[in-house]
Amino acid sequence: MSKKTIGIIGLGLIGGSLGLDLQNEGYRVLGVSRKQETCDIALFKGVCAESSIDFKLLEEAEIIFLATPIGSIVSSLEKLIPHLNSQAIVTDVASVKKIIVEQCSNLWPGFIGGHPMAGTAEQGINSAQFGLFRNAAYVLTPTERTLPEAVKSLKEIILAIGAKLLLADPQEHDSAVAWISHLPVIISAALLQGILIEAPENIRHLAQNLASSGFRDTSRVGGGNPELGAMMAKYNKQALLRSVSGYQDTLKMMIELIEKENWAGLTEILENTQSTRPKFLKE
Ligand code: NAP
Repeated sequence: MSKKTIGIIGLGLIGGSLGLDLQNEGYRVLGVSRKQETCDIALFKGVCAESSIDFKLLEEAEIIFLATPIGSIVSSLEKLIPHLNSQAIVTDVASVKKIIVEQCSNLWPGFIGGHPMAGTAEQGINSAQFGLFRNAAYVLTPTERTLPEAVKSLKEIILAIGAKLLLADPQEHDSAVAWISHLPVIISAALLQGILIEAPENIRHLAQNLASSGFRDTSRVGGGNPELGAMMAKYNKQALLRSVSGYQDTLKMMIELIEKENWAGLTEILENTQSTRPKFLKE
């Protein structure tokens, strides 16, 4: 049986990387992006078999991934609908799910929300890379309205690119990613911004020369795509604010332990965090 024809809208880091993997797995990928230059690079890199800035290209696509920035996922679906085959399954890759799943499910019955838990600090077609999703979690967020064939079709594709399928409720997804993805961006950015604003110039200069692997790890997500960080906060505001507030409470408690020189209390927390961390980073 020949493999399905897949459409991707938004040929950047995630859309481009998906295209590379899917083409490699024998799927025929049709790519649509906003700029003609991006479409040309995508063809050259082997991200897709055909590319265009015209959504009409996707008339034959059986499964379509919306991989534009969060703020243009819904408008991309609106532009796509006049060209969609009535049986087509549409999914998205956006980092927030509740608001997108609500709006897109109202527009297209064959919609299912999705979120690959993989990325880099880069953006754009030139950052697309082969194997980005291998061993990464890939969440689908079906609701009671989701067609069973949408889950089945997406499951086949997710397994083909080497990712691990998880199913989650859209709201629960947003609460969980607020803690492990969106809050870390804010904390990491606050660390960098804090040094810029609070540290005296001579100390900042010295710190820049001394920074090594520890700082590379803690600052990585705060030094990523600014548009994506702002969109995460905008579209997952409530869940993000809840996790920021929980983080502030914990930080306050740790500051008090340090002020009171309660080293035993601080050590107890650090022992707890040392043993907990591997549970979040299972291979
Ligand atoms: P990106 O590298 O900036 O790619 C998005 C691409 O979409 C751009 O290269 C742009 O291509 C194109 N585009 C923008 N507006 C468009 C429009 N209106 N119509 C068609 N194409 C448009 O961003 P990304 O990191 O891949 O993020 C894309 C999506 O993946 C977001 O929804 C994000 O939440 C999600 N996501 C990101 C990560 C991550 O770590 N980066 C991880 C998981 C999920 P042109 O050059 O043609 O303008």
